[in-house]
Amino acid sequence: MSNYKMAEANHRIIPTEDKIFGINQSAKKMAAEIGADKVVNATIGSLLDNDGNLVILSSVVEVLKSLTPNDYAEYAPITGTPDFIKAINRAAFGSYVPNAYTATVATPGGTGAIRNTIQNYSKRGDQVLTSDWYWAPYNTIAQDIERTIATFTLTDDKGKFNAVSFESKINELLSKQDGLVILLNTPAHNPTGYSLDLEDWNNVIRVTKNAVADGKKKLTLLVDVAYLDYAGDEEENRKFFPLLEGLPENILVVITYSLSKSYTMYGMRSGAMICMTGNKEIADEFKTVCSFSARGTWSNCNRAAMATLSHIYADNNLLSKVTKERQQYCKTLLQRGKSFQEAANEVSLNMVPFVAGFFVTVRCENAEAVGLELQKQGIFTVPVGKGLRVSIASIPEEKCKSLPPLISQAIKNVNG
Ligand code: PLP
Repeated sequence: MSNYKMAEANHRIIPTEDKIFGINQSAKKMAAEIGADKVVNATIGSLLDNDGNLVILSSVVEVLKSLTPNDYAEYAPITGTPDFIKAINRAAFGSYVPNAYTATVATPGGTGAIRNTIQNYSKRGDQVLTSDWYWAPYNTIAQDIERTIATFTLTDDKGKFNAVSFESKINELLSKQDGLVILLNTPAHNPTGYSLDLEDWNNVIRVTKNAVADGKKKLTLLVDVAYLDYAGDEEENRKFFPLLEGLPENILVVITYSLSKSYTMYGMRSGAMICMTGNKEIADEFKTVCSFSARGTWSNCNRAAMATLSHIYADNNLLSKVTKERQQYCKTLLQRGKSFQEAANEVSLNMVPFVAGFFVTVRCENAEAVGLELQKQGIFTVPVGKGLRVSIASIPEEKCKSLPPLISQAIKNVNG
């Protein structure tokens, strides 16, 4: 029996307030009371400049402003306009051309792509696997369609991808269900900043192939590349794609790509899900089932965002302008991460290995209490299970340098 007056819980546990939103509100309140310069708000999941303003790629804004009324007023096809599909494949894959059957369906951001993968490739009641540190909305999305999240341990004691934990969890879940959806967020994982290297990827492929080698079970490997364009060298970070070719037919790869960060179009809600498979019928089926789910949830997606990306990819000068502008910001972000890491090393903070991205995580006991201790000094972070998530995307480099000793002290104050 649910406690709702009118609503049905449908097996979901629904908090009354979003946790990050709540902490962000407290940070804003304190900034209004004592002055923004005395508050460090490291909760925000968007890239901010050193003055705390949202980074918006001006080259993208120019394209948006040049759109015609039809570009935003007209309905788009459910799967996306043909030009958008071509453009987003290039955006996701870069210069790599998959030697596999692919199919692409437009989605409202990466979120929609993740939702429709879980909906179509797992059964109600199934568990979906991701790492122990994960983006909280994975849980919301899974619960909302009556699935649950199971986790493996992301890194081993040497700080490498924990293939042993990954393998044992896959085997455990496949002994209970007919198939399994696995969510891997890389490169520049949220919340840790971990990126799988090629050796890690080879392990992922070895383990997944072994797990379904007898042909009796199915695996869907969702690669959430929401931070792909902020992970360092754009070509280098796409080198794992060829490893995903030639997998057996009972392993489906789904790449979920988002325009939120890469094109600073967070609010325009655009992205895509792209499958890779060696079997044309499986690719066709992907298009059919994912279009059906799109129709049954948000229908079609934002046409203006599709037109914007299509224009950018139709003009090499424009594309290079956008890429160069983004690269500048990416450099700033990487520098913030490096500064945080160096300062953290000096005070021996226990961080999950950071490579790139919007966030770093510090392991600690009693994370909620440590978070509150930091708030007393005007420092706002997000407690996430076994530690604190610090958004380096939202604070300037000098704060990235100054925070580690303060976090270290707060951990000592709370845990002794
Ligand atoms: N995946 C991860 C790990 C994210 O952090 C985000 C955004 O914060 C997304 C996917 C998708 O975001 P959107 O739905 O805005 O594309």
